[in-house]
Amino acid sequence: MNDIIEEIKKLKEERKAVILSHNYQRGEVQDIADFVGDSLELSREAAKTKAEVIIFCGVHFMAETAKILNPEKKVILPDLKAGCPLANMINLNELNKLKEENPKAKVVCYINTSAQIKAASDICCTSSNALKVVESISSDEIIFVPDMNLGNFVKKNTKKKMIIWQGFCPTHIWIKKEDILKLKERYKDAVVMVHPECLPDTIEVADYVLSTGGMLKKAKELGSKRFIIGTENGIIHRLKKENPEKEFYPVSKKIICPNMKRITLNKVLNSLKNLKPEIDVEESIRIKEKVVIDKMLEIL
Ligand code: SF4
Repeated sequence: MNDIIEEIKKLKEERKAVILSHNYQRGEVQDIADFVGDSLELSREAAKTKAEVIIFCGVHFMAETAKILNPEKKVILPDLKAGCPLANMINLNELNKLKEENPKAKVVCYINTSAQIKAASDICCTSSNALKVVESISSDEIIFVPDMNLGNFVKKNTKKKMIIWQGFCPTHIWIKKEDILKLKERYKDAVVMVHPECLPDTIEVADYVLSTGGMLKKAKELGSKRFIIGTENGIIHRLKKENPEKEFYPVSKKIICPNMKRITLNKVLNSLKNLKPEIDVEESIRIKEKVVIDKMLEIL
């Protein structure tokens, strides 16, 4: 493994590349990255990088977002099959029908959507800024796509009328309230943090509902020693690394996104060698989508 890491480091310099990794990636992939973060943090990092090549260790829509913000750069996703089932739960026809049925509503799309859906929306959001984005819109009616759990979480905290698409993350819905309560029996003093893609009754038993970036900040801030973590288990690696004196318990060992785990060190190395597979976005869609992402980046 050390040989691969050395080769990655060497090629990265030669290619003038930057490696970005999502918090859900394998630990060894996070460790060779120049920057590790959640979707919003990675979008911001992609927007300001000076590198000529971006190796994006995440899923397809994230690499697409990086390409939209950096059309002149090569954006490489080490495995093209790393998609997001949630992002595929709405298509353009379905969104257009919703818009026709609700002509006064503005469309807020979660960043977990395809370039086509973003281009047909008014503004984009991530799990860390969804409520802020919804509140920033002048219209009182919002179409929210595609995640129903994040949509319902926002709905509980806003007075706006929310028309919510019924998509869901097939990984986060397995984070069960019962499993959290069992862990709470064992670790009575543990702080419970869950992601807003979780089901409403899971969210109800949490102390904090946060994006992965939010969880990392909160774990550092709080004096507590134990935490129960309700999101994809890749985050545990970084939580432990940055807080070695604290303990982190995943709600279940099964909370793994198979798409995020498609990226391996070998695939990162091959990407650097071949500068493939490259992500491309058709220019007319890219321009429309950039407006939607830029609006979001201006909000925070
Ligand atoms: Fe998509 Fe869920 Fe995997 Fe995130 S964890 S990439 S939302 S399937």
